[in-house]
Amino acid sequence: MSDSDHVRILSRRDIVKVASATGVAALAGTSVAEAAAPPPKKWDQEADVVVVGYGGAGACAAIAAADAGASVLLLEKQTQAKHYPNSRMAGGIFHSPQPDGNRAALKEYAKAMMSGENIPGKLEGEQPEVSDELAEIYSRRAPDNAPFLQSLDPDFKTARLAGASFPTFPGAKEAGYRTYFATYTGKADFNVPSLNKPKQEKMNGEAFFTCLTVGVSKRNNIRALFETPASRLVTDDKGEVIGVIAKQGDKEIAVKAKRAVVLTSGGYEYNMAMRKAFLEGPGVDGWAFYGTTYNTGDGIEMALGVGAGLMKTGKAASRIITAVPIRVNGLRIGLITDSVGSPNSLVVDNHGKRYASETLVTVDPSRYFFYKAAVQFDIQKLDYPRSPSWMIFDEKLRKEKCITFRGISTAGYGFVPWAQDNLDAIERGWILKGDTLEELAAKIKAHADNRKLFDEAAFVETMRKFNGYCAASKDEEFGRKLDPAGVIDKPPYYALPLYAGGPNTKGGISANGQREVLNWSGKPIPRLYTAGEISSAFKFVYQGGGNLTECITFGRVAGENAAKLKPWS
Ligand SMILES: Cc1cc2nc3c(=O)[nH]c(=O)nc-3n(C[C@H](O)[C@H](O)[C@H](O)COP(=O)(O)OP(=O)(O)OC[C@H]3O[C@@H](n4cnc5c(N)ncnc54)[C@H](O)[C@@H]3O)c2cc1C
Repeated sequence: MSDSDHVRILSRRDIVKVASATGVAALAGTSVAEAAAPPPKKWDQEADVVVVGYGGAGACAAIAAADAGASVLLLEKQTQAKHYPNSRMAGGIFHSPQPDGNRAALKEYAKAMMSGENIPGKLEGEQPEVSDELAEIYSRRAPDNAPFLQSLDPDFKTARLAGASFPTFPGAKEAGYRTYFATYTGKADFNVPSLNKPKQEKMNGEAFFTCLTVGVSKRNNIRALFETPASRLVTDDKGEVIGVIAKQGDKEIAVKAKRAVVLTSGGYEYNMAMRKAFLEGPGVDGWAFYGTTYNTGDGIEMALGVGAGLMKTGKAASRIITAVPIRVNGLRIGLITDSVGSPNSLVVDNHGKRYASETLVTVDPSRYFFYKAAVQFDIQKLDYPRSPSWMIFDEKLRKEKCITFRGISTAGYGFVPWAQDNLDAIERGWILKGDTLEELAAKIKAHADNRKLFDEAAFVETMRKFNGYCAASKDEEFGRKLDPAGVIDKPPYYALPLYAGGPNTKGGISANGQREVLNWSGKPIPRLYTAGEISSAFKFVYQGGGNLTECITFGRVAGENAAKLKPWS
């Protein structure tokens, strides 16, 4: 670390001291509580490696650090009884390239997904300083992802799903890319909820996370403290991270990290200020997420407090989803809305007009970018005309299908009630209903989020045209595959508001391939590591399953590196 880095960190601390002394709590948009804490008089807990956040990345970091001989303390905000990190609420898809695949090709493919800089003509590549190392380490470690999970619990199984999602990317053909589904049954069935099922019946994220918790519980050098949210990092005079301040009830505890701290506390899905700061468009009511409500950007705030930089923090593998007026931290809870693009449905903007082929929401590569269409800004009217959008469907689809997905996510884990027949959601007003298209249009216009923008006549014309395209099996405007069975003509009609959003944000703490947290000058902050969605490596495009993958690959890298350091005392 250079002198200038010391200056940077120390001067921040000095600012905080001044702020404390003068009673000025907020300086430059931050507060004393967010900044680094000085060493305490006494430590309440200690371990070689302290891992903040017990999700997939935290579990993998803890296991790797423990296997390298370190004592590990996992700090987790949620209760043990209802411990639902995103890694558990997830679909359970992860990548594990073939061990005998071409590693050079795998590195190229990974680099393309991480930064896009090796794809001719692509513009994104803004992290060349870390992407080569990230891709190199990924190419060496990711093929071991599935074997690693199986080593934790021999009962754990994988079901093979697919190969490379981006077949034209460099290395895609030779890399031996593979994605798998986590399961204890040997089968892949996304529709079967497995919360509260015995281990041998578990699938999805339930299987994935169960496997990790089995691995954690088998290691007696790992302890987990639940209901213990971390709030600040402790640094010494040299700016090295030497511990964590956490809360237990009303009491603050000081946790000594003899070797290092690993931040794995997830993204900022339920942090209103960060959503306003980082997300495109209206970050509060224009967005929603369908994972745990406990990911509130705490680790990002803690890292900023010791001078960490950020990287592409606004990235979120997202599309359009519905959300309900049950709010946590002032933010609506979202739900997987996989029915978008179904026959007997279409999507209109906030004015009543279609703007895209609805099936783009469900296919690669557009499915993880569709949010960009949803947050489009009208530069003349100075409005977000697609925020919200509206999924319109008829009685046929209402009866046939649950409009949201109940196997996993917020409906599957009891954050939001939603019955299979959708009737309770209609009853609650979460789905609007009209016996005629005109009645439905009037209800959309009266909805607070519509801001009275809906054009009833344009909407009725949109519906007429769409049904005509279905009858002709040809979508003249957006090229969606349509056929006569897909018409929307069975009343009553329904409208569901859709917002930009998806499973999770992709964090943004700046970190290199060794998962050292970097400051704004790109220098590592001593003894601070990170992994998971708080610092996602996949900054250009997202192949489904990438987030759990990086928990396994880079969680282990972070844990191993943290354990390797010499204790500071
Ligand atoms: C419904 C859904 C489906 C998904 N499906 C897939 C999929 O199939 N494949 C895939 O790759 N990805 C999927 N994802 C994304 C993926 O699940 C997440 O990005 C990934 O699990 C993140 O892992 P993590 O360890 O970084 O965070 P998490 O698993 O969310 O863990 C973070 C933990 O940190 C805790 N925490 C937060 N703040 C603090 C604090 N201050 N102190 C202590 N603890 C704290 C949280 O309570 C939480 O337990 C899905 C996500 C969702 C929501």
